[in-house]
Amino acid sequence: MANISLKNVMKTYAGGDAAVKDLNLELRDGEFLVLAGPAGSGKSTVVHLIAGLEEPSAGTLTMDGESLKDVPPRERDVAMVFQNNILYPDMTVYENLEFGLRMRKISPEICGERIERTAEILGLTEILQQKPGEIGEKQRQMTAVGRAIVHNPGVLLLDEPFLNLDAELRKKMRIELERLHRELNLTILYATEDQNEAAALGDRVAIMRDGTLQQIDTPQRVYENPANLFVAGFAGNPRINLMECNVREKDGNAVLVFGDRELSLPADCSSLLKQNGYMDRRIVAGLRPEALRLVKTREANSMEATVSRYETVGENVYVYFEIGDTEGAVRVERQTAVKQGDIISLVPDMMKLHLFDRDTGALITADKQRGL
Ligand code: ADP
Ligand code: MG
Repeated sequence: MANISLKNVMKTYAGGDAAVKDLNLELRDGEFLVLAGPAGSGKSTVVHLIAGLEEPSAGTLTMDGESLKDVPPRERDVAMVFQNNILYPDMTVYENLEFGLRMRKISPEICGERIERTAEILGLTEILQQKPGEIGEKQRQMTAVGRAIVHNPGVLLLDEPFLNLDAELRKKMRIELERLHRELNLTILYATEDQNEAAALGDRVAIMRDGTLQQIDTPQRVYENPANLFVAGFAGNPRINLMECNVREKDGNAVLVFGDRELSLPADCSSLLKQNGYMDRRIVAGLRPEALRLVKTREANSMEATVSRYETVGENVYVYFEIGDTEGAVRVERQTAVKQGDIISLVPDMMKLHLFDRDTGALITADKQRGL
């Protein structure tokens, strides 16, 4: 176990823009931190900086309080699993696991013990004498993970490790990884562009965009309290419903005008918009699929929509709808009987409304649980 800290870290590749900008990030001892963000957001750069494969252009990296500046990659107490984990095809699983240990000049006796223990944990004991070509894909992936954890690293870095696997196997590998984290108390940094992984894995998730950290918190808090429009759109499946609307004054209060519909706001939302100068401006309103309620008849503050399709995701049923040319989703009760083309009404839970500045994407206000 170990702790890694990045302070004001900047990385600019020769001839490129900054790939990582002023990053402050802490990987805590024993935690499973997911580094999430779209391609090009700087995830691999962060991983490479920690592994020592790249040097920061500015800022400091420390491991357990000690600077990593002059520590070469092979002396860092980290191990990596990459996207394409190439095992040595002519070596057995045992030899693949042994290779890294040998490089570290560990005695054959200790090597043997570690390999046996790792194989046991990963379910590879039976296939130690087989070669990568003779075993299944899951076992090959487990061998790649085994090769990383066999020397008991302080930190395990995984850079989109299971990207090329089919969905089913990816899920299995994720479950295995969580089990390893629990059982071995590993400190893990896991980079992924898959928002489902970001939501399902890990103690905390750090969301990157264009080299800048957007938010770091538990998956649930990121989901419930996204710090900005980008995070709101990234975290959540089905996606949050985002509607551009005008802020207008009505009877002294701010209301949201969306097409020919008008939504009144709770008093504190209204005064926040007024105080922050959003009157007569366009903003973006965000409502999660579960922050809408589908009703069959029109109600005060409801919006009409047309059903386009529905979908079951695990336990939940979602109805997809269109309002004008905006598509959205609402979570419904399992027995809800609607079909394509039905006109439905949607009642937003205004306590769960997120309001964003349209130009900057910054959060204007959020749900009342945050005490705003
Ligand atoms: P991610 O892993 O999130 O896809 P990367 O860290 O690979 O992001 O890339 C971040 C940015 O840095 C991108 O714009 C990418 O083109 C650039 N970049 C990454 N590696 C290099 C490199 N070795 N040389 C030059 N530019 C790079
Ligand atoms: Mg990458």
